[in-house]
Amino acid sequence: MLAEPSPTWLTQPYWDATAKHTLIRPKCSSCGTSFFSPQIACPKCTSEQWTWEQSSGRGEILSAATVYKPPHPGIAVPYVFSAVRMDEGWNILTNIVNCKPEEAKIGMRVKVNWDRKIGNFVIPCFEPEQAGGSK
Ligand SMILES: [Zn+2]
Repeated sequence: MLAEPSPTWLTQPYWDATAKHTLIRPKCSSCGTSFFSPQIACPKCTSEQWTWEQSSGRGEILSAATVYKPPHPGIAVPYVFSAVRMDEGWNILTNIVNCKPEEAKIGMRVKVNWDRKIGNFVIPCFEPEQAGGSK
C-alpha cells in the first residue's frame, strides 16, 4: 500500500485542485516565475507574494528513468519516473503512463493524466500528448 500524501497548509490547495482534475502551481506576483513545490517565498526573487494559477497540464519530458524493482511490494513495474518541464516553466516529478518505457524520451510532449488515485488523493501522472482513445 502506497502512502497517501500528507497535505500541509502550503500544499492543501494543490490537492484540493487535483481532486477536481485541475493542475495548479504557484506563480510569483512580483517576477512572474512559476515554481514547484509550493514554498513560502519565490525561489527566484524571494517575494512572498504569489498565487495559485492553473496550468495547461502540458509540457515535455526533462528526464526519464525506468524503474524495474518495485520500491514497495505490489507496485507494478516497470514504470517511468520522470521530471516534466511544464509549458509555464515549472517542473514536476511524476510518472509517465500509457507509454512503453523505451518510448518515454527526453523532449517528448506530454499531458496530464488523472487516472491514478492513492487513498482519497488524485495523483497527476503524464502521458504522451497524442495518447487517449486508442489505449
Ligand atoms: Zn519572484
